[in-house]
Amino acid sequence: MFPLNNGNLKIAVQKKGRLTEKSVELLNLCGLGIDNYTDRLYISASNFPADILFLRDDDIPEYVQDGVADLGIVGENVIIEKPVMIDLKEKLGFGKCKIMIAYPDSLEINNIQSLAGKKIATTYPSILGRFLSENGIEARIIEISGSVEIAPALGIADVICDIVSTGNTLKLNKLKRGFTVFESEAALIASPALKDNSFKEQLVTDLLKRIRSVITARKSKYLMMNVPKASLEEVIRMIPASKSPTILPLFDESTVAVHAVVSSGYIWEVLDPLKKAGATGILVLPIENMIP
Ligand code: ATP
Ligand code: ZN
Repeated sequence: MFPLNNGNLKIAVQKKGRLTEKSVELLNLCGLGIDNYTDRLYISASNFPADILFLRDDDIPEYVQDGVADLGIVGENVIIEKPVMIDLKEKLGFGKCKIMIAYPDSLEINNIQSLAGKKIATTYPSILGRFLSENGIEARIIEISGSVEIAPALGIADVICDIVSTGNTLKLNKLKRGFTVFESEAALIASPALKDNSFKEQLVTDLLKRIRSVITARKSKYLMMNVPKASLEEVIRMIPASKSPTILPLFDESTVAVHAVVSSGYIWEVLDPLKKAGATGILVLPIENMIP
């Protein structure tokens, strides 16, 4: 029997690129057990009936649509660019990037209207086309498959529309950052063919529950500290915990231990005020999973 013909859930992940490590890390945090995957084309997870398929990211939406893979992890930019029938199950909070307009110093492109009549080079013709028509702008889209930044210098386009990260490539090509056309992050997509396989559907429901608990946990930290009883009320008011915080007695009867789940972003704002209020031994711990 072909080894992949085993009834396991097939999950497509980018083979080698920006999403690979984070995708595998997410699946590992969900308890799938994926080790030594470098240079493998596929690997079976321990602890879960799933095989991970390592593919070029651009091919993932189509494989998921056709049911070759049941699930896929891929950038929203890639999903939207391809005309595919898939279900977007969850945005995953990593692989965030922006597709932006960039333009040569000689031009002044500071709003959408100034794109009218321009030639715009891009590898994202669908995303750009949708953006232009939503804004009622007529412009010419020049589709190219790579090195978009060079297009204005070659005279084949006035401006470009591309993923912008550090801006270094733009600077090298004497381009300025304009405005954002599309914001993307990695997403979990599912095959429409899943509805015909109740075993796999159940696995997807289970995995989605795990993924959501990992995503929620990433947005939170576990805060532990010792607080003098005298300032306990003041401290409690400072921590909008997800549930009522846990208060534990200590050997030193004038002090208690306080434990609470706090949003990651808020932790850094509240540390100094907590110390001022007399909190000591403050520990901030990551949370792996949060089960609703
Ligand atoms: P492949 O060889 O698999 O086709 P690729 O070159 O298309 O790889 P990567 O550069 O690894 O892909 O990017 C994969 C995805 O990561 C992008 O489609 C996008 O969703 C996301 N991403 C996040 N940040 C960036 C960035 N700074 N530049 C490009 N892509 C980014
Ligand atoms: Zn790609």
